[in-house]
Amino acid sequence: SPARAAPFRETQRPLSYLLTERSPLSVADRPISGGDTPAQRIVNPLCERETINALRKQFGFAFNKGLGQNFLVNPRIPWQIVQEADIDASWGVLEIGPGIGCLTYELAQHAGRVAAVEIDAALLPVLEQTLPFDNVHVVHADFMDLNLADWLPSQFGDRPVAVVANLPYYITTPILMRLLEQAPPQLRRIVVMVQREVAVRLCAPSGSPEGGAISLAVEYRSLPRILFRVPPGCFMPAPKVESAVVRMDLRDSPAVSCSNPDAMFRLIRQGFGQRRKTLVNALGNQGPFPKALLGDALDALHLARDIRAERMTLAQFAALTDFLLNHACPDGGAVL
Ligand code: SAM
Repeated sequence: SPARAAPFRETQRPLSYLLTERSPLSVADRPISGGDTPAQRIVNPLCERETINALRKQFGFAFNKGLGQNFLVNPRIPWQIVQEADIDASWGVLEIGPGIGCLTYELAQHAGRVAAVEIDAALLPVLEQTLPFDNVHVVHADFMDLNLADWLPSQFGDRPVAVVANLPYYITTPILMRLLEQAPPQLRRIVVMVQREVAVRLCAPSGSPEGGAISLAVEYRSLPRILFRVPPGCFMPAPKVESAVVRMDLRDSPAVSCSNPDAMFRLIRQGFGQRRKTLVNALGNQGPFPKALLGDALDALHLARDIRAERMTLAQFAALTDFLLNHACPDGGAVL
């Protein structure tokens, strides 16, 4: 059964399954950085260059760049991620992309159940060897194919669920949009490693220049914050960009009320799709609303006629959507 979280712990499991005669891994008891005292050792045998190289040799897999495979090689990072995720045995955790399992290894010792969804078939035999935990279930799937409303309860019953992942960067935004739009209420928390600039964008309050359509979706559903930065040297192979870990606590109810949130997000996407244009032009050139009506809406909301999407707050987008639907389509927004 999973062990309880302890601030600085030694590993609870014998590492013999990794320490075969043919793989000379002397990782069991090594401090991870110069300043650590013996009492502060964090042991994670899957977070070592030697382990990854030995597994590559044994299983003959290569790093798949197209799938965003940059594996963590600093044991402090998964340890810190799991501390900050603040989960215990009453929680289920969905991990997207376990890789060879270094974050999963840490999650297994805290969560009640971990479902780790990996797209790369070449990693499945590796994970079978590296994760001999009763509470870990590796699922071979493309995360984007999962129907979360059915799948989360099928995996976790009615447990509260956290998504904890070092995300593949090529698909960060689609993954987060899917989680924010489709996950049932049992999804309570998302703790993810992303590119640093993306982290800043995710946490940008609406109306600030760093923001984008995704920032408004994050703000609508959650309370986000950046936890810590992670330099490229913590990964193998090292990415070109710096990374950061973000935590989003899902709200019990959305940050603003709007009569038709889907319509609001379509407007938001259209507005940010041409973010250098004024909102009237961005929406008027491609949407169902004439520019004159858009101008009237901005007047009614006391907003400048040349305002751009990036200066709009979430509450203003909600009010704009309600105004447009009331004035152009009293029957509920089919035009959007
Ligand atoms: N968790 C590991 C770690 O921290 O070292 C690996 C993280 S690596 C950045 C991203 C992982 O996501 C890879 O294992 C990759 O194969 C997997 N992946 C990429 N696209 C995926 C998808 N659509 N669905 C599920 N897994 C995916």
